[in-house]
Amino acid sequence: MTSPKTLLRTWNLRPRQQLGQNFLSDPSTAQMIVNRAELSPEDTVVEIGAGLGALTIPTGQVVRQVYALETDGHLIDLLRTELATHNITNAEVIKQDVLRFDFETFARERGITDRLVVMSNLPYNISSQVLVQLVKSRHIVSRAIIMFQKELARRLVAEPGNRDYSRLTVMLRYCSEIRTLATVRASMFYPKPKVDSEILEVRFRERPEHPVADEEFFFKVIKGAFGQRRKTLRNALSGSELQVSPDLARQSLEAADIDPVRRAETLTVPEFIALTEQLALIRE
Ligand code: SAM
Repeated sequence: MTSPKTLLRTWNLRPRQQLGQNFLSDPSTAQMIVNRAELSPEDTVVEIGAGLGALTIPTGQVVRQVYALETDGHLIDLLRTELATHNITNAEVIKQDVLRFDFETFARERGITDRLVVMSNLPYNISSQVLVQLVKSRHIVSRAIIMFQKELARRLVAEPGNRDYSRLTVMLRYCSEIRTLATVRASMFYPKPKVDSEILEVRFRERPEHPVADEEFFFKVIKGAFGQRRKTLRNALSGSELQVSPDLARQSLEAADIDPVRRAETLTVPEFIALTEQLALIRE
């Protein structure tokens, strides 16, 4: 396989930092990721940010179909040529900004009835946004195998009480199971990023263990609680877009059996659910 550096030079291109372009330069690492992802010949994969095809090629060799999204118009011809060179005929390259991509509409338009598998070596600056997007699209996405900057990956698997525990951790715990598949050293990329990466598998549950009545409101409560994470929950909630008074925030917390001076990072998912149910009562 031609190295990213050589490939880009041949096409007279340079990696674009603002698009998070750190290309995987080690084919055996790409193959390891695909192996650990345990893909099957029945899978339909959407790859986010296909770049020069490092993951698209080994993925295409295993699954039924790959839709390779790439926002950088300069890479599209190169990517199509690379796929053709490697005889990958089941991958379609689509010039697309993932942040404007609607998984559900796409599946409907393509007549895809099975839930999709998402693969990505995600650009770091859009990782959180894409995760929220996947959580909201999970009825059409069964699982996602994603490479993250190590710090973010650690946040996503953090336990309550840990200062890495975040809004995204709670959202993901609510509706998925997450496991770490591997660590990839920074030296495996061109250009070399500052930090190592970790690959996580996020397996979305068909149904959450404890479904909430109004998921959108639940996510707003989580967002409000973590919006000012250094503050006590009572103050964080009353200062958030939920617009509850400090007194009602305290009452809701107490009714949910949560001490109002605790902080968001200490709450378990069932506690967030109980709090949401209490806040929903005063909203009515
Ligand atoms: N998958 C390739 C690999 O592993 O070598 C490339 C990974 S590189 C970290 C991220 C890729 O995502 C780049 O090709 C970049 O152009 C693309 N990208 C950046 N922002 C994007 C967006 N909003 N939508 C789709 N692709 C994006």
